[in-house]
Amino acid sequence: MDKNERKQNFYKALPTVGLYIHVPFCVSKCPYCDFYSVPSDEETKEQYVQAVLRELNKRKDTFFVDTLYFGGGTPSLLGPQNLYILTDTVRQWFCKDTWECTLEANPAEDLEDVFAAFAQAGGNRVSMGLQVADDTLLQKLGRRHTVAQAEKAVKDLQKQGIHRYSFDLMLGIPDQTERHIQNSVAFCQEMGAEHVSSYLLKLEPNTPFGIKPPALPSEDQTVEFYLQTCSLLEEKGYLQYEISNFAKAGQQSLHNLKYWDAKDVVGIGPAAHSFFNGKRTFYPRDLQSFLLGTLQEEEETNVACPAGSLEEYGMLRLRLTEGITQEGMQKRFGKPIPKGWIENAQKLPPNLCVTDEKGIRLTRDGFLVSNTILARIM
Ligand code: SF4
Repeated sequence: MDKNERKQNFYKALPTVGLYIHVPFCVSKCPYCDFYSVPSDEETKEQYVQAVLRELNKRKDTFFVDTLYFGGGTPSLLGPQNLYILTDTVRQWFCKDTWECTLEANPAEDLEDVFAAFAQAGGNRVSMGLQVADDTLLQKLGRRHTVAQAEKAVKDLQKQGIHRYSFDLMLGIPDQTERHIQNSVAFCQEMGAEHVSSYLLKLEPNTPFGIKPPALPSEDQTVEFYLQTCSLLEEKGYLQYEISNFAKAGQQSLHNLKYWDAKDVVGIGPAAHSFFNGKRTFYPRDLQSFLLGTLQEEEETNVACPAGSLEEYGMLRLRLTEGITQEGMQKRFGKPIPKGWIENAQKLPPNLCVTDEKGIRLTRDGFLVSNTILARIM
């Protein structure tokens, strides 16, 4: 074997992963948010880009990337030049051929130049935190953007030829009614979004909403909102593929699917998590140490459900409408779904869980009580 062949074989053997880059900057903190983010200035953003490049450089020639996801925080705050540098570098260092490259963006900023730079560097998908298509409710949520700004952001995206974009919707927010749900779903459709993520507002401890909760819709009402959102989205051609995610045909988030399929994802930046080489690791929430290069990744330890185990795989897969399939189980572990899981699933009411020759999957009602069901099956 000559040197060239050896080199080719070396590259062939490298795994392909999803890459997540956390951008821990926000202009202000939304009162419900527990994600790691802090205010920043231009100098800090530039230092951050250099720190991410340093971490990426350490990983050169250890994997290929077929999905890149900039999450946060507010990645669009990095600005056109910084985003261009990061996206283009990842593409050059790690990308073999095609990829899905997603940017989380906040429509409160003027995003025209950001989208132009992102598209030029190879970015092809954007996820926007719309939350609700109503300015009064957006204010109650402490969001800085308006519905008109979200509309403008879509136009800016389309100008750059980025046609894959997703909106986040939030359910169970103060003073929300069925009318807001209808308007928000209609807005997603009218704006041409190909993907919608729909999350319940959670009161996280140590956030202003967690410490002093606002008046929220009742639990029953929020369940109704969830079911209503699922049906309305489905009517408009968005098919549910995960508890909180809906997409037009073929437009699922390939990056996020990796998490639910327990595939390798490498995370870079404070608060970013990885699953790679059978280990789950994370960077602690410490921007200054990350900038200095002294932040060490730590290993996640979950005795009940070890990284890469059958149980972990099953729990993640049951978030998907496809559920745990016999085919997927054979491919991943070389064996069928454990008999015990099937027997346990068969004991559950059929309106919550389905078992057949394909495998085990939860119904929409089942998703509402998924934690209880998972504990019963496994
Ligand atoms: S913009 Fe997003 S990440 Fe930043 S504080 Fe608000 S919800 Fe959290």
